[in-house]
Amino acid sequence: MIYPIVAYGHQVLKKEAEEIHEGDDVSGLISDMFDTMGKANGVGLAAPQINKGIRLFVLDSNLMLDEEDDEKGIRKAFINPIILDEYGDKYTFEEGCLSIPEVRAEITRPEKLTIEYFDENWNLKEEEFSGMTARVIQHEYDHLEGILFVDYLKGLKRRMVKGKLVDISKGKVSTDYRMLYP
Ligand SMILES: [Zn+2]
Repeated sequence: MIYPIVAYGHQVLKKEAEEIHEGDDVSGLISDMFDTMGKANGVGLAAPQINKGIRLFVLDSNLMLDEEDDEKGIRKAFINPIILDEYGDKYTFEEGCLSIPEVRAEITRPEKLTIEYFDENWNLKEEEFSGMTARVIQHEYDHLEGILFVDYLKGLKRRMVKGKLVDISKGKVSTDYRMLYP
């Protein structure tokens, strides 16, 4: 099942998502989230973006990398994740978000992180990620905390996207995937 993607301005994107009861079967939902993400050509999708306020996201960082990159991408679901630590050099990268179409902005984040999470079979994992994979994890993890990448923009940069954000929240945007407006 393909879900519509919640647009900027919807309350679910501003709320801290709730933990999933350990052992609950979310395999069907995970499969739907991968399908929804793929349909929209996204590299990551968090549950609040399909109007479910629970701590779950999926990502496929392979789509951001090509053969020339040293880094290998991952395709994974993260249930009840906790970022334990972020470290390494901070760097700036242009981010976008399926919930905020046509807006892109340079965001600075640390290069590496350690994260604890359950995989889709409820095995508890602790892993380190870096590069593009870490970047997508940080962006998706923020969604579970009710934080959007545009929230990091201040001053002039914030004012420059303000009109576009208002348009999106009113449905005045065209996408090739279905959206759910506030
Ligand atoms: Zn996003």
